[in-house]
Amino acid sequence: MNDTASPTNEILVVGAGMAAHRFVECLLHDPSTDVRVTVIGDEGHGPYDRSALVEVLAGRDPAELQLERAAFGDDRVRLIRDDRVLRIDPAARTVRTRARRTYAYDTLVLATGSFAARVAVDGARLPGCFVLRTIEDAESVREFVHTRSRILGRPLRGAVIGGGPPGLATAEALHDLGIDTTFVQHPEHLLPAELDQTAATVRRIALEEKGITVRTRARTTRLDPDESGAVTALEFQDGSFQRADIVIFTIGVHPRDELARNAGLEVHPRGGVIVDDRCGTSDENILAIGEAACFEGRHIDAVAPARVMAELAAARLLGKDVSHRGHDGSAPHGIPVVLSTGAGGEIAPGQLMAIGRIAEVFRVRPRITGAGVELRGARPEQSSALWEQLVAAGLVDGALVGADAGEAPPGQVPRDVQGRRADASGTAPRPRGQTTRGPVVRGWGERARAGESLLGSSGRVENPA
Ligand SMILES: Cc1cc2nc3c(=O)[nH]c(=O)nc-3n(C[C@H](O)[C@H](O)[C@H](O)COP(=O)(O)OP(=O)(O)OC[C@H]3O[C@@H](n4cnc5c(N)ncnc54)[C@H](O)[C@@H]3O)c2cc1C
Repeated sequence: MNDTASPTNEILVVGAGMAAHRFVECLLHDPSTDVRVTVIGDEGHGPYDRSALVEVLAGRDPAELQLERAAFGDDRVRLIRDDRVLRIDPAARTVRTRARRTYAYDTLVLATGSFAARVAVDGARLPGCFVLRTIEDAESVREFVHTRSRILGRPLRGAVIGGGPPGLATAEALHDLGIDTTFVQHPEHLLPAELDQTAATVRRIALEEKGITVRTRARTTRLDPDESGAVTALEFQDGSFQRADIVIFTIGVHPRDELARNAGLEVHPRGGVIVDDRCGTSDENILAIGEAACFEGRHIDAVAPARVMAELAAARLLGKDVSHRGHDGSAPHGIPVVLSTGAGGEIAPGQLMAIGRIAEVFRVRPRITGAGVELRGARPEQSSALWEQLVAAGLVDGALVGADAGEAPPGQVPRDVQGRRADASGTAPRPRGQTTRGPVVRGWGERARAGESLLGSSGRVENPA
């Protein structure tokens, strides 16, 4: 494949989501790069922060979720909204869309993301059953809540089925809408991928104190309609049941790989367009990035690795010699922060409570590790405020270790509190005991185990080798 974009190269991106946005940003960062990019998205919006969708449930204006528009204001890019690519013809190097348009490409980038999955049981598509993947989904839930509570003339009962951080956040959002909410999952402990048993118990207690019922070790076997046809109850494997006027599934995602599959590209049996370490697929003119892709048998479900793939694909087309370093398959869901203890090595109960409070406010997840406490799930834009809270609670003394200027947006981590900025390449934790006062924060920019970001704070593509 001729990787380097040239004036004759027409780059077509399918999907206008978070990976596509980062790809366009990186590809067009240099104003002298001579390329033409067409991005076709099937939502009626430009790229937006999907990870903040729960906030739309809570009433936030969806317009506020839109990602930085600058990249799409560039003359070299064309964004086509509300059309869907239905078919790829790899031999002719064209795609055909729902609007019956045909677009030619030299390089095609598949950035089609994922479908949100539903439990495969009877009733999973009854009116009142939802997933949360798009702005439309969030708006439909709000509308349903409004209409249904008016029809029933009482506060609604709701259930969120499936674990993971989005599931808990969704349960809290439903609760905040005044719905009597039950969170249902099969594993015994909350967030088993993210929390150890102690932290999971703390999280459960916090939810229950709020008024959310937590039902673990529960497998949903069927959803029942009322006489109007709308969902009214869930049945479980143990024979018990739960009333619910609204159900939201947050059980996970499945890569949207159907276009690639139909075009004869190699697709993983468990889903995802198989890519090499530079996002290339089995067709030399087609790349795949983000949740649609499958690297080394794994597909991702978080922003950080999706962005890394987007950066990689752009770097590849710009002729940079870079490759993916892999990710561990778990969902980092943001920027990890590790609080490690000082010379004593112990975390005091008061510190734990303070951490719990901060975690609750910022909706980050505490995990106690051998090295201290890790707070996962912070978004870059939260970094400054979170940092200030940690300082105010006396949990950190201002030393930031393992920081990476490329991860936190410039200016987000205040230099005056952080004391010094670590070497941008220094992701290794400071050895325990080197601090003299209190815990050390390690980590804006451990790059979420997603492989290192290839872009420095300048946005310039760097070769990590
Ligand atoms: C409720 C929720 C909460 C989340 N919370 C977090 C979080 O806290 N932290 C985190 O890291 N991640 C979170 N995520 C995951 C994160 O949003 C995704 O990992 C990220 O959006 C993946 O980017 P992507 O570009 O691969 O896919 P997407 O952002 O989904 O973009 C894909 C786009 O392609 C479009 N498309 C698909 N097929 C076609 C076609 N044939 N033609 C045209 N367009 C098409 C889709 O409609 C979509 O607009 C969350 C996701 C959800 C849904």
